[in-house]
This record gives sequence, structure tokens and C-alpha cells, in this order.
Amino acid sequence: MYSEFMDLFPVNRIKFNEPLKNHTSFAIGGPADLMFIPESIEELRKVIFLCQKQQMKYFILGQGSNILVRDKGIRGVVIKLNNILANITVDKEQITAEAGISISNLAQEAARHELSGLEFAEGIPGSLGGAVVMNAGAYGGEMKNVLLEVTAINKDGNIKKYTPDEMLMTYRKSIFQFNGSIVVSAVIKLQKDKKESIKARMDDYAARRQEKQPLDFPSAGSTFRRPENYFVGPMIEELGLKGFKIGGAQVSAKHAGFIINSGNASARDVLELIAYIQKKVRERYGVELQTEIKVVGEE
Ligand SMILES: Cc1cc2nc3c(=O)[nH]c(=O)nc-3n(C[C@H](O)[C@H](O)[C@H](O)COP(=O)(O)OP(=O)(O)OC[C@H]3O[C@@H](n4cnc5c(N)ncnc54)[C@H](O)[C@@H]3O)c2cc1C
Repeated sequence: MYSEFMDLFPVNRIKFNEPLKNHTSFAIGGPADLMFIPESIEELRKVIFLCQKQQMKYFILGQGSNILVRDKGIRGVVIKLNNILANITVDKEQITAEAGISISNLAQEAARHELSGLEFAEGIPGSLGGAVVMNAGAYGGEMKNVLLEVTAINKDGNIKKYTPDEMLMTYRKSIFQFNGSIVVSAVIKLQKDKKESIKARMDDYAARRQEKQPLDFPSAGSTFRRPENYFVGPMIEELGLKGFKIGGAQVSAKHAGFIINSGNASARDVLELIAYIQKKVRERYGVELQTEIKVVGEE
């Protein structure tokens, strides 16, 4: 089934039965049948056409910092867009960047060019593609505010350019979570500012993350979406669940909004802990917590 893959692409970038726990910030997840890391947008398109021709399922992975992969892994092809697909060009106040660049690196590049607007992304451990798809945000900023245009490969393999209005970006949501398109690059519009001021804001955000977030443990960031009129961390803390564990999955003792992998957690442990928290929150507050992290793969 995968022989045409071997003919078309360099074998050193094809991995069979690749453990996804090595590609997720949770350090959890069973194997991908096949993982491929494209080096160019053209190569990415070729993979998509091949998958479609052979009716192979594919899944797009960025830096794996917002997903929980179930214990039996992902069937079909996992296409990983990471730092290889990471070219950028800077033109006055606009940066055009490929989807694989880390969003933190992009924020650093913007600062180097004295461009402000991406400071909020300092410390978000995802790719630009993942940040667009998730409309990532922090400290009052979000991707929605800086995106001028996004180029994506649609399900039919054709390239389409999206305007901000077409991307339907709201809190941690975008059209790309629903239409099966692959984000390949983005044009970001920033403003000129002094390098020192930009750096000072980034340092402040990084320090706040260090102080508040359990960065010493594997996690996928905030487990749940913020419900209207509530804050998730304090709700879970009030329930006395800080530090509560199921198997290796633990409610962080530092920030109750994070579930951490305290060592050898399975996806099942995390899912049981999520269900337990949801039940307790429903009983106490009548609120239905929705996960922010994407749960994928086979149980
Ligand atoms: C310690 C920590 C702190 C975090 N802090 C924040 C924060 O402050 N704010 C915030 O918003 N998030 C935060 N996150 C979550 C996460 O970093 C972001 O959601 C990030 O944008 C995800 O990017 P990724 O490349 O890792 O995506 P992945 O986790 O790889 O993928 C997420 C989803 O997007 C899809 N996807 C990824 N790339 C593409 C693409 N190019 N085209 C189409 N689909 C794609 C995947 O299929 C998946 O459904 C944090 C996570 C951690 C671990």
C-alpha cells in the first residue's frame, strides 16, 4: 500500500510505526502507520494527491502541542509540518511565513525586525500552521488580529487564499478546524516599534508563563476552553482537585487548568481525568466544560 510512497519520496523522511508520543508535547500517543515530513509546499501537495489517489487517510500534525493522541495511534499517514517548512520573508511591515515555523521563533524574528504585534506568541509551543488553525492567543493578543491572508491546500488538492473574513476566527476556533484544509503559509501584518519595547513585552510574558504554568512537565497547555463567566483553573481548584491523579495523568499542582503527564501517563488516563473533572464541574457549577485540546487517533 505504501510502496508508491517509497518510490516518490526520500526514504529517510518516511517513518513506519512512528510513536507519536515522540511528536507531542504531552509525550503521549500510540504509533502513526506512516509519518512523512515534507520539505516544500509542492511536496506536501504531492503527498495529498497520493493519499487521495490511494484513498489513504491523512492527518496533519504541527508541533503536537495541542493534541492528545489516543493509545493505539493514528491509522494512515501523519504529515508532520515542522521547522523544515519554515521559510520567511519580511517586507516592510509584513511577514510571509510557511506553516512549519515555530510561532515563538516567528515572534523572535518579528522583534529582530522591530515589528510589533506577535509578542503574545512568545512561549506558545506550536507551529504557525497550528496557531492559525487554533487561533492561538494569550495576554490579550490572538492570531486573528495579525493575519492578513492565509494560503491553504483544500481537500481537492487546490490552493486557496483566505481573507481574514473567510477564516471565521473566534476564540480558539477557525474555519480550518472544520473544512479539512491544510494551512501552508500566512501573511502577517505588524507595526513598527522599538526593539527594546517589543523585547520587554516578550520577556514579561515569558516570565508570567514561567511563574504560572507547569512548564517542567509534559502537557498540551490549557485542557479546557474557557466557559462564559467562569475561569477554569479556579473552578477546578475550588473542587479540591489540584494535584489529583488518575494513573500518570495529573491536575497540575501549579495551574489547575493544565493536565500534566506526571510520568508514563496513557491517553486513557488523561481521558478518564478529563471526564472526572467534567463530571465534578457539571455537578458543582452546572457548566459543561469543553476540551480545548484535540483528541485524535484510535482507542
Ligand atoms: C505549555 C503550553 C502552553 C500553551 N500556551 C498556549 C497559549 O498561551 N495560547 C494558546 O492559544 N495555546 C497555547 N498552547 C496550545 C498550543 O501550543 C497551540 O494551540 C498551538 O497553536 C498548536 O500548534 P501546533 O503546531 O502544536 O498544533 P498541533 O497540536 O500539532 O495541532 C493542533 C490541531 O491543528 C491541526 N493542524 C496543525 N497544523 C495544521 C496545518 N498547518 N493545517 C491544518 N491543520 C493543522 C492539527 O491537525 C490539530 O487538529 C499551549 C500549549 C502548551 C503545551
